[in-house]
Amino acid sequence: KLGLLLFATVAIFAALPTTSAEEAEQYAFNADVTRLMKLIINSLYSNKDIFLREIISNAADASDKIRFLALTDPKLLGEGDQAKLEIFVDADEEHNTLTIRDRGIGMTHKDLIETLGTIAKSGTQNFLEAVAKGADLNLIGQFGVGFYSSFLVADRVTVITKHNEDKQLIWESDASEHFTIREDPEGNTLGRGTKVILHLKEDEKQYLDTQKIHVRPAVPRPFAPPIRPAHSPRP
Ligand code: ADP
Ligand code: MG
Repeated sequence: KLGLLLFATVAIFAALPTTSAEEAEQYAFNADVTRLMKLIINSLYSNKDIFLREIISNAADASDKIRFLALTDPKLLGEGDQAKLEIFVDADEEHNTLTIRDRGIGMTHKDLIETLGTIAKSGTQNFLEAVAKGADLNLIGQFGVGFYSSFLVADRVTVITKHNEDKQLIWESDASEHFTIREDPEGNTLGRGTKVILHLKEDEKQYLDTQKIHVRPAVPRPFAPPIRPAHSPRP
């Protein structure tokens, strides 16, 4: 009986997150996710730009999710700027960070734990196997693990997120075996949405260059059809 009690106690403590002085809870990544992050962070892959497509597509997906929910419950979208489902990319040369911000659905504490690290996804292992067989890292999004491509250019990633049904939370990882989650001491500054802060590696500061990132003007230029001689056949 005592053995069983001891086992149960140990099991309970093992399942609880470890809490540090700053009240940050520490969670262990799924082992395959750790392998994936190590592979990505140490990769000599040259087509690193793909991280931006992955992080922006997540921002767009999150915006679609709240837009869809708001079809039946418009007040979920909030008012004023908060209702505008924009995506921002900001380069901060002082702090050496590139930040992608959206006003999408955001993530609850449970979402953060489940989607960013602890729950094994079949795609994680499948992608590791595909890469071992020579697949291009560019395919990462198709395996449902595109988020981790951020470690192509960043050695630390901070995700600040606010979901309508939770407090504003900060998730952080430096691609080690653990990640942390803590309540944002600044409270709800986002309203709703997510900010992915990429702390760029020393040799990836080129992504702070707005010429390299090339943010398009908000208003698209008028569409100009290609000029074609009047009687030439269509291409
Ligand atoms: P996928 O987009 O294929 O699901 P990712 O690895 O790119 O895989 O992202 C994992 C999950 O993390 C997403 O499914 C989503 O639940 C969550 N996520 C990532 N970025 C955001 C974001 N900006 N807003 C809300 N949720 C996000
Ligand atoms: Mg994605």
